[in-house]
Amino acid sequence: MNSNVDNKLTLSDITKWTKQFPERLVYQTKERNYTYGELGEQSNKIASYLQQTISTPKPIVVFGDLQFEMVAAFVGISKAGLPYIPISSDTPQDRLQLILQTAEPALIIRVDEQKEINSTIPQMTYTQLLQFDGTVETEFTGVQRDDTYYIIFTSGTTGVPKGVQISHANLSSFVNWMLTDFDLKEGANYLAQAAYSFDLSVMGLYPALASGSILSPLKKEETANFKQLFARLPELSIENWISTPSFIDICLMETTFDAEHYPTISHFLFCGEELTHATATLLHERFPQAKIFNTYGPTEATVAISGVEITQDVLDTYKRLPIGYVKSDSRIIIDEETREINIVGPTISKGYLNNPTKTKEAFFEFEGQPAYHTGDAGSLDEKGLLFYEGRIDFQVKLHGYRIELEEVEHHLAQCAYVKHAIVIPKWQDHKVQQLIAVVIPENSPFEKPFQLTKAIREEVAQTLMDYMIPKRFIYKETFPMTQNGKVDRKALHAEVNQ
Ligand code: AMP
Repeated sequence: MNSNVDNKLTLSDITKWTKQFPERLVYQTKERNYTYGELGEQSNKIASYLQQTISTPKPIVVFGDLQFEMVAAFVGISKAGLPYIPISSDTPQDRLQLILQTAEPALIIRVDEQKEINSTIPQMTYTQLLQFDGTVETEFTGVQRDDTYYIIFTSGTTGVPKGVQISHANLSSFVNWMLTDFDLKEGANYLAQAAYSFDLSVMGLYPALASGSILSPLKKEETANFKQLFARLPELSIENWISTPSFIDICLMETTFDAEHYPTISHFLFCGEELTHATATLLHERFPQAKIFNTYGPTEATVAISGVEITQDVLDTYKRLPIGYVKSDSRIIIDEETREINIVGPTISKGYLNNPTKTKEAFFEFEGQPAYHTGDAGSLDEKGLLFYEGRIDFQVKLHGYRIELEEVEHHLAQCAYVKHAIVIPKWQDHKVQQLIAVVIPENSPFEKPFQLTKAIREEVAQTLMDYMIPKRFIYKETFPMTQNGKVDRKALHAEVNQ
């Protein structure tokens, strides 16, 4: 793959579309459609308000779901030269507090206006922001170069989420690569399915906005049941499909999910977890003309740094699919001993917000360039094709969500009736199917295990996202031990995965 050297700048490209093509559609939702003109107007208002009232370079939290207003707030904040932090409105209160304590934002913008946030940090609803009646500017310097563009919070081993800071330069390098190497057309229609608090959403959001394209969100409630999902999906006329492999697995369960019923889909882009051979084969059968790409990368390297088209030839050649050729401005260094994939290049984050310890552990410099230890094991073949071989630590992907097992264990251990907890993933076909908590209880007043499980679940739900809470609980009096006195995770792993 060849990356274009012409470095477009994401924010100025977005502004270009809003000014020159105000009638063009940018966002299509069930309720109504929005234009680039509206995006320009609302973001100008937000930027003007922020410029005139906020004097610190602190980040701004945007709290909501997949609404158009989330995107307008992001653009407005970027125009004001400030970083934004997207937070999903389904985040439990305690977790939200941990994020707010770390981030120390200047303001919280509530796009989900009904949901209260218990905090002393100033808050405004989106409606209040739009009522700003001061001078509305139309020209802004905005975020540039190494300024932080956004901060995405991800699971942290110590129980506190880590905020990955992505700069304008990081984002531009990524967006340029997407728009040049994946044959994505200007003015195309992109699926927006991932929450804006996950970096997978960035794969659609900025390539779409920088190329005058349309974003078509599928909200959580629209994907919650099969009937609703398949009533809404055909209405969207998606061209560029972006999702986790887990989401396409759900869609493939519907037999009418094929090229005949979805003739507009020309590109499938996957990232975030293993794309299995079985999934890609079935998708290729259903959409023989569409291009299918497997891409790979962690949030810390700005969404993705490698990609490869999964053609019939690739399917015939590899049992476990490759994760791509590395973008031309970046490099991969495989550690000889651990086989860890280290990424070097211009999309590497400057580190975790207000967390120098974790930043030092994960980030380093290699030959004068920023570099990141991914914790993934892998190999490169002689053609420069990268292969993923699993993790070297306790991070897993479950239905596309990044989870540190140690974070789940940390919060389980805080529960009143838990003495010790180990979380074990249950695997199938290189993918985690569910998390199982193996627990030594203490002081349990309950007669039946299911009552204990209910109480533990309720307690951890205050801090852990829904998807992090183990599906099954196994209770034991003791754990198996290794010879040097540690919990024998391998034995528990074998027991759960037998
Ligand atoms: P996130 O920061 O949420 O994007 O998660 C990054 C992690 O997801 C990587 O470090 C990998 O462990 C995993 N991952 C991302 N893309 C792929 C892929 N194409 N195949 C296998 N694992 C992947």
